[in-house]
Amino acid sequence: MSSSLEAFFHPRAVAVIGASRDSEKIGYALVDNLQHCGFKGQIYPINPKSPEILGLKSYASINDVPDEVDLAVIAIPASQVVAVLAECGQKGVPGVIVITAGFGEIGGEGRKNERLLVETARQYTLRLLGPNCMGIIDTIIPLNASFAGGMPLPGHIAFMSQSGALAQAVLDWACAEGIGFSRFVSLGNKADLTEIDFIRAWGEDPHSKVILAYLEDIRDGAEFMALCRQVTRQQGTPIIAIKSGTTAAGTRAVSSHTGSLAGSEQAYDTAFKQAGVIHAASVERLFDYSLAFAYQPLVAGNRLAILTNAGGPGILATDAAERAGLQVANLAAATINRLRALIPDIASALNPIDVRGDAFEDSYDMALRLALADANVDSVVVILTPQKLTRVEETAQVVARVVAEMNRAEKESPTSNQSPAAVSIDLPLTPKPVLACFMGEAHVKAGISILQEHGIPNYAFPERAIEALQAMWQYRQWLERPLVQPPRFAFDDDRLRQIFAQVRNDGRVALAETESHDIAAAIGLKVPKAELARNREEAVALARLIGYPVVFKVASPEILHKSDLGGVRVGINNDLEARGAFDLITARAHRFAPGAQVWGATIQEMVTPGREVIIGMSRDPQFGPLLMFGLGGIYVEVLKDVVFRIAPISEAEAQAMINEIHSAPLLRGVRGEQPPDRDAICQALLRVSQLVHEFPEIVELDINPLVVHEQGAVAVDVRMVITPE
Ligand code: ADP
Ligand code: MG
Repeated sequence: MSSSLEAFFHPRAVAVIGASRDSEKIGYALVDNLQHCGFKGQIYPINPKSPEILGLKSYASINDVPDEVDLAVIAIPASQVVAVLAECGQKGVPGVIVITAGFGEIGGEGRKNERLLVETARQYTLRLLGPNCMGIIDTIIPLNASFAGGMPLPGHIAFMSQSGALAQAVLDWACAEGIGFSRFVSLGNKADLTEIDFIRAWGEDPHSKVILAYLEDIRDGAEFMALCRQVTRQQGTPIIAIKSGTTAAGTRAVSSHTGSLAGSEQAYDTAFKQAGVIHAASVERLFDYSLAFAYQPLVAGNRLAILTNAGGPGILATDAAERAGLQVANLAAATINRLRALIPDIASALNPIDVRGDAFEDSYDMALRLALADANVDSVVVILTPQKLTRVEETAQVVARVVAEMNRAEKESPTSNQSPAAVSIDLPLTPKPVLACFMGEAHVKAGISILQEHGIPNYAFPERAIEALQAMWQYRQWLERPLVQPPRFAFDDDRLRQIFAQVRNDGRVALAETESHDIAAAIGLKVPKAELARNREEAVALARLIGYPVVFKVASPEILHKSDLGGVRVGINNDLEARGAFDLITARAHRFAPGAQVWGATIQEMVTPGREVIIGMSRDPQFGPLLMFGLGGIYVEVLKDVVFRIAPISEAEAQAMINEIHSAPLLRGVRGEQPPDRDAICQALLRVSQLVHEFPEIVELDINPLVVHEQGAVAVDVRMVITPE
């Protein structure tokens, strides 16, 4: 693992500063945990008042310890922590865990002290975990440098938590559920070490098959995404994360449709997706998914076989599979025939395979083997309801045996793949995931324990097993998605910079309609002819110049959504109507937006009606340019049919965005109409993506609508806000 974290992952000697003989103190729990976790190195309690703690010689200060110390755990009052950290630095301790709370989380003085902590750590080039954390537990070393109530079971799950209290509860629950961990860390305030450091370390850890993270914020969105992409794709370690709490999205007033639709929730969800991180919606799912990843082979496809002894749960599983984008596999004819031949009283040999409520373990045995052997099947969910005759434990044994044989078959030659069942059924050479759903509680408990002992995750309800498979399928698709670079267009960069400079010279941040149209044109989008008319007569002259019919729009840097106050008149056909339109929209502007600067009216060429879509961007404080696409027009915020990506995006991602909105069928052409030009939408998305990626001064952008025709698309309303400098 990465060398700067060596002290945390391979410590030979650990000091507990603030060790205590009082069993009600954290300083006692820390020493006690270190003593009882199987740690092979030295433990040095530090406490000036006691010469001996829990049978160990105690020292007055870390400087009195005669030997080198790799890791120090500090649990003393907050006011003394900085000084003691400096002592650790002088002693040359490379890793320090600060358990003590009362730093950044309390604000004010605490925040100042946390900065001092970090400065001290930098000064001595030591790495610091916390403050305000529970510590670190490692079942591989083994090491328990935490005040958690005991040691978790060993396992393949590495878990980091930004909440110590949640971690504490999860460890306790996991223990009862028989869920094991390889590494566990409580991140605390993340003053120095953050999720980045542990994801990097665990990504290359052979003992950790899956990384779980409970996060409340992410420090560096771009670095997080780059690292997670590497870990999930190159290193093949899945990451499952849950993000709670809202992040301060800044105090900037939101002035666009995109800005009001793009919350930090969207940004996180989008960033996770684009970085290959599986986003769990609840703590329960976090662990549901992790068990499947930690104990079962990754699913190769989305075709699922459901094996059950009751109809209802089979239907539940089928419905859940459909929702999850999994396919209830079409079993091969040979499989169906053999199921019928070998299990004469089978209720259904079609998927879901129903072996009946009175089935014994031998029916499960043959059905599971046949399902696994079927080339049309990628995974199996084994459902059991404890009915009168059901032999729960025996069935669990059988499932465990078949899975073990399949796993062995991978390693051994195919000929040794002999089944002890009455007939021989060749198990697949490449193992497929098997998840169990033994439903109930009292009657299935012992059976579930058998399954767990053999690495077969059990889920209380079919939907949960299906969702775990869905997470696996999602990860499989991520691994197989081709990585394509975004295209690069030649923009008129000078023109773009010139416009931004001009806006800033005026002391504005919002671009005028004509300016944002010029930007759109400079990046290669089609825009209607448009001119600003300052008075009625100019309006008539410009309308004639552009050519009737035209559109009149109120021109004001303060009026964001012009239609809201009747500031847009389409289909103006002659001079008379032009005069009327000018008077009407300027009067409305003065009336409904009193005090707003009104420059006059923008006269635009009238564009043939088409499908209206929106392309927008809102800059997220963590992840940067959050690109939005959706059904456009004046009802965007009502319909909320939008999807997001963090720019820059590739062509495949642009296409995916177009396909993901609910009204995607409207973009394919419905009821015999000609479909709108999807390629033009895709091109516009890619160009905007490049613009917002290359020009970080753009903080918000709305193209609404982009009017899409059978051929081509026109940006008729473009709004943009830039940073002041
Ligand atoms: P706002 O969004 O500020 O209310 P828009 O400029 O988007 O104003 O205009 C509102 C609606 O008017 C658009 O959704 C579109 O249907 C129509 N519209 C605007 N400009 C044109 C144009 N040049 N040609 C045809 N229709 C237009
Ligand atoms: Mg608009």
